[in-house]
Amino acid sequence: MTEDRPASANSDDPAAPWYREGLSFNCTQCGNCCTGGPGAVWVSDAEIEAIAAHLGENPLGFRTLHTRQIGGRRSLLEHANGDCVYLSPATRRCQIYEARPVQCRVWPFWPELLETPEAWQAASRRCPGIGRGDVIPLEAVEVAAAKMALK
Ligand code: SF4
Repeated sequence: MTEDRPASANSDDPAAPWYREGLSFNCTQCGNCCTGGPGAVWVSDAEIEAIAAHLGENPLGFRTLHTRQIGGRRSLLEHANGDCVYLSPATRRCQIYEARPVQCRVWPFWPELLETPEAWQAASRRCPGIGRGDVIPLEAVEVAAAKMALK
C-alpha cells in the first residue's frame, strides 16, 4: 500500500495538485509495468534510432520489424499476452533499458495516474515501487508528466 496521501492543506495555492508534497517512488524492477495489456509503448523516430543502435540493428529494419503503426504514432510490438517483447522472460529485466522510450522512463508519473489520489492508489496495486523510497518532489513529477503528455 502506498504511503502517499492527498496533501495536507499546508499550501496557500488552492490550484496546487493533490501531490503538491511530492510522491514516493522507488522501482523494485519487478517488471509488472512491462506486462499485461494490450497497450502501446510509443516510440518517436529518435527513440527508434536509439533502440536500434543499442541493439546493433538497422533503424529502418527495426522500425519495420519491431514497431507498428497506431493512428499517427508508432508503438513497440508486444506479445499476444500484452507483455513487452523486450522484457526478458528469464530475468524480468528490460533488455533495452539504457535506450528505453520516454514513456517507460517517466512511469508512473503519467498524467492519468496523477489525476486523482485514487488513480495513483490503483496504480500502486500493480506497481510495488509506488509508495516506496524517497519522495520525488513536485517539480520532478510535473516534468515527467509533461514528457508523457507530449507522447
Ligand atoms: S511495476 Fe513499478 S516497481 Fe515494478 S518494474 Fe515497473 S516501475 Fe518498477
